[in-house]
Amino acid sequence: MADRTTSQLTLFWHRRDLRLSDNVGLHAAFELSAKVIGVFCLDPHILEGDDVAPARVAYMLGCLRELETAYTALGSRLLVLRGDPRTELPKLAVALSAENVIWNRDVEPYARDRDRTVAAELRERDINVDTAWDQLLHVPGSIRTSSVNSKPYTVFTPFRKNWSRQTKAEPLPAPLRACDLTPEELAIAEKAGATDVPSDAELGLEWDAGFPIDPGEVAACAVLEGFTAATVFEYDTARNFPGVPGTSGMSAALKFGAIGIREVWQATVKASQECKTVKACDGVRTWQDELIWREFYQTVMYFFPELADGPYRPQWQDFPWKNDRAQFQAWCEGRTGYPIVDAAMRQLNQTGWMHNRCRMIVASFLTKDLMVDWRWGERYFMQNLVDGDLSANNGGWQWSASSGMDPKPLRIFNPTTQGKKFDPDAIYIRRWLPELKGLDTKRIHSGKLTPIEVQSHGYVMPIVDHNTQQKRFKEVYKQQKELHAQPA
Ligand SMILES: Cc1cc2nc3c(=O)[nH]c(=O)nc-3n(C[C@H](O)[C@H](O)[C@H](O)COP(=O)(O)OP(=O)(O)OC[C@H]3O[C@@H](n4cnc5c(N)ncnc54)[C@H](O)[C@@H]3O)c2cc1C
Repeated sequence: MADRTTSQLTLFWHRRDLRLSDNVGLHAAFELSAKVIGVFCLDPHILEGDDVAPARVAYMLGCLRELETAYTALGSRLLVLRGDPRTELPKLAVALSAENVIWNRDVEPYARDRDRTVAAELRERDINVDTAWDQLLHVPGSIRTSSVNSKPYTVFTPFRKNWSRQTKAEPLPAPLRACDLTPEELAIAEKAGATDVPSDAELGLEWDAGFPIDPGEVAACAVLEGFTAATVFEYDTARNFPGVPGTSGMSAALKFGAIGIREVWQATVKASQECKTVKACDGVRTWQDELIWREFYQTVMYFFPELADGPYRPQWQDFPWKNDRAQFQAWCEGRTGYPIVDAAMRQLNQTGWMHNRCRMIVASFLTKDLMVDWRWGERYFMQNLVDGDLSANNGGWQWSASSGMDPKPLRIFNPTTQGKKFDPDAIYIRRWLPELKGLDTKRIHSGKLTPIEVQSHGYVMPIVDHNTQQKRFKEVYKQQKELHAQPA
């Protein structure tokens, strides 16, 4: 690498790392030169795709606005481009005679393909490209099986064991000062398409229902601090009850890198040193496990990009899904007649977020009870979730549909039992299904509301019978297994 200089211009391309602190690539950029300018590209492939969620875009824009302010405070700036990064980024770098363009790597197939093209375009123009791994504690490839030809893991438990043994990197400090563009350079950048952060309305994706966590680094750090000082100690139990705020709500911040993963991990280590009871220690360990699930799903997406397109298990490739559009619509709108399913779907529709327990319940219901292809549900989640993330969402859906890498394949949740067990006082159900507010808790969880009860509360009768459907599903599943077990 060249010496650190103030004359050398380095562009740092932000993508899922919308922060200054604990940012591996940005830290490397500042090692290289003091004149580091942040760039973000609003990519139409993502913003105009059919799985864009207004909540997610609004959260991202909020993070970008805070990042813009943070760059200004440093003495530098954030430039925003609109268009395909493959053309826009090289155009800006050439116009500004940038010497380096640096970014943090991603695991998703689209991003990897796009990045290869951007790097080639820049190198062709003699611009230095450097990349780093930032969004994971352990980069893909560093955690492998101990077999002779050491392979990537496809099962969580051994991955977790190996992952847990590895030394974790410390958080990196934020840069303190940077140099700005000259007025002439700024005019050149604007001519090359650089603008400020737009509003969600300008992008035609309005969202005014708020977020589970405020956008930006400041809010993410504050939530982490509060969560790891108290709630995490109850997490082992509380995380299962959607009616209580027992989880961190940090998924959107982790998705967009409003906080660095090293910083998050360090906070969990500190919490584990402070826990005073076995239960409190279990809480911290279980939360750490969720962060490991996040790493597992990203790692498998990196090594098995075909997961993004379909099922991992062969017997699911030609699974005879029923795909009834009216039933799918009822599921989307929270009108299935199963209170816990409907409450969860309305939470998603109204807030852009859904509790993890409920994500598992509604995913099981869609695939096993309604026999709708899990990819329909996966897309609907992406179209609505503030934290929608290809790896975690695909992993969650394949786990729920039984089509993924999970070694325990057939899992069917009974929505009535789940509601009774995890929302015993129907707090969550009543919050999202106000029409059931006046109904007795026992009746809500009875699994057999009468037509009169349903009508008088303005609710709906179940669109399918769970017991019948699960039997039907098991039969079809058995047939599929036999079909695929036959020698070709
Ligand atoms: C069908 C289905 C779809 C899902 N889609 C997504 C998605 O698009 N984006 C997403 O971030 N998570 C997804 N999850 C995982 C999980 O539901 C959310 O991460 C969690 O509900 C977010 O809330 P939280 O931040 O309060 O989580 P916490 O319980 O506080 O967990 C801390 C963090 O760990 C990570 N995490 C937790 N659980 C998981 C998990 N099972 N898999 C991967 N990472 C996890 C998240 O980054 C989360 O913020 C999905 C799960 C299922 C079953």
